Amino acid sequence: MKLLVVGAHADDTVLNAGGTMAKCIRRGDQVRDVTFSIHRGVSLNYKPEIKNEHEAAMSVFYGREPWEIKAKNTNFSFRLENFRACGDAFEHGASRADLRRMLEEECGGFEPDLVISHSRLDSNQDHAALASEVRRVFKKKSTIYEFVFPWNHTGLWPNMFVELSMIDVDDKIQALRCYSSQERPDHHYMKFDVQMAWAQSWGSLNGWEAAEAFILQQGLF
Ligand SMILES: [Zn+2]
Repeated sequence: MKLLVVGAHADDTVLNAGGTMAKCIRRGDQVRDVTFSIHRGVSLNYKPEIKNEHEAAMSVFYGREPWEIKAKNTNFSFRLENFRACGDAFEHGASRADLRRMLEEECGGFEPDLVISHSRLDSNQDHAALASEVRRVFKKKSTIYEFVFPWNHTGLWPNMFVELSMIDVDDKIQALRCYSSQERPDHHYMKFDVQMAWAQSWGSLNGWEAAEAFILQQGLF
């Protein structure tokens, strides 16, 4: 299977689908992470270290060898040059058309079976804009799951569950630990016990040890 996970900001893909990425990479699927921005908010809050944090988080999933060696020997396609090219998409005021063009450039040759990205109902405008463009680019092409991120939208209930082992959850939490710049008292979702509780809660609904939950936006078989 080819899985593409698309996030607006560094930490979004890990927060919302890190366990699924870990699981799929471990079982040999082709998994690609595309992240569009290395920091949040206005330029005053620019945090260049977030790029390094994201690279470190990805290395938890993909391995810790140099990126170029791994890229030649594996199927993952997270590339630093892509990261730079798209790194400031939102902060530089990328239009919806820009986002679509970048998505097509980044993902055009990959042809994923499954795309996981933000919800179009997310209250964060970057998340919602990217979700709409993901929908436009992959309509009629790929199954699409949307993130469930209750801190940005209440009242949504998932209908897709990915079973995770505790090893997958541990990988996700280890990757989350890389985003130390995002650890703040009000970022409760970054707390590892909160993430563990979510994973176990979603899992318990299906009789599993742990899970990640999504909303099926478009299903193709
Ligand atoms: Zn975000």
